Amino acid sequence: MLASDQDRLNCFMHGLKRRNPHQPEFHQAVYEVALDVIPYIRDHPIYDRHRILERLTEPDRIVIFRVNWEDDQGNFRANRGYRVQQSNAIGPYKGGIRFHKQVSLDTLKFLAFEQTFKNGLTGLPMGGAKGGSDFNPKGKSEGEVMRFCQRFMAVLAHHIGPNTDVPAGDIGVGSREVSYMFGQYKHMVNQFTGAITGKGLSFGGSLIRTEATGYGAVYLLDNMLRHHGDGLENKTVLVSGSGNVAQYTVEKLIELGARVISMSDSSGTIHDPAGITTERLAWLKELKNVRRGRVQAYADEFKVAYYPGKRPWQIPCEIAIPCATQNEINTEDARTLLNNGCLAVVEGANMPTIQEGVDLYLEAGILYGPSKAANAGGVAISGLEMTQNSMRLSWSREELDRRLQGIMADIHRQCVKHGQEGKRVNYRKGANIAGFLRVADALVACGNI
Ligand code: GLU
Repeated sequence: MLASDQDRLNCFMHGLKRRNPHQPEFHQAVYEVALDVIPYIRDHPIYDRHRILERLTEPDRIVIFRVNWEDDQGNFRANRGYRVQQSNAIGPYKGGIRFHKQVSLDTLKFLAFEQTFKNGLTGLPMGGAKGGSDFNPKGKSEGEVMRFCQRFMAVLAHHIGPNTDVPAGDIGVGSREVSYMFGQYKHMVNQFTGAITGKGLSFGGSLIRTEATGYGAVYLLDNMLRHHGDGLENKTVLVSGSGNVAQYTVEKLIELGARVISMSDSSGTIHDPAGITTERLAWLKELKNVRRGRVQAYADEFKVAYYPGKRPWQIPCEIAIPCATQNEINTEDARTLLNNGCLAVVEGANMPTIQEGVDLYLEAGILYGPSKAANAGGVAISGLEMTQNSMRLSWSREELDRRLQGIMADIHRQCVKHGQEGKRVNYRKGANIAGFLRVADALVACGNI
């Protein structure tokens, strides 16, 4: 990086940190974009004149609200709800809702910022947003989850709508929670519209939505490998997490002939060296989605190793796909992966590698698929759920899978176009510049509003 760009970056980050104190995840997400965008802006001063980076790092608005609900013992409880409406430059605000005990404004600002670029990369008309609550769904009864979702939506409903802001799921929010929220929204506005995505199939949901994030990550990985004269067949893969993204990442990897040897949850990691089979994956899905159990039960059932309190990264592999949560790969983990000969890291979760770890991947020259490109398949099918709702019809599984593959191939093309560095492709740079341009050009065209 040129010294003048470095000065500009330092100065920009200094101002951002001053305006947004105590928000390290937001700082990290912005820094990783600014690293690539600041040198680009130097050569394309129109974006500087319009202060695009400054405008994009200030959310359009943030709604923060109290959510009162009643637990099964009749106690009154209070949690905090949020919606960060980051940018509607290219379409209605769009992004998931996260329920997790650690949800804070910092986390949701980083996620809304990332979402804006990710949604831009899909080529679909969706702005960026994120919402959530510090409500902890673990151990809550069905009734408690339903009542919380209803009370959360009772407030949020005033700020969303099919042409305004379209939420969806994220960590702690699956089809059960989306459906309760949709029910509450419909009840309040007396309209059946596509104001939320990830709905059940019988009431406006889309086929492939559940699978899309995981499938999409594997499609991007497949494009990356093939672009470099390699393929997925027989590759040894580490996957972290065991939720929606992880499950369908593993499913597609098995289908394409890779050997997946790990999955995990917040308590530990299972190591199945022969490779997780379709039958074992079906068992794990039932464990996680129906019985809501822990992955340790998989190790007990199939007599494989279980590493309590550990993440998978110390196990030697050729490919790593983190699908759990932000910053789950630290510098030490990244170094271990590289020392063990890992040749590709593709991110199913949002920002799962800390920034120094990403630097190590890029220095080592391995294939690195950043989350805003790699996990865009989920929101892409959400975008197509909105399209189907507007048309009042449903596309087939084949049609949607074909479109998903097309969108992931197009994201790969954009990354190559903007990230080519000599013989190598810097996918981080490619995704950052391509996502930035999609939103920036719209901001320039619409004027200073
Ligand atoms: N929460 C998902 C994401 O991080 C999906 C968002 C959506 O479908 O709107 O992209």
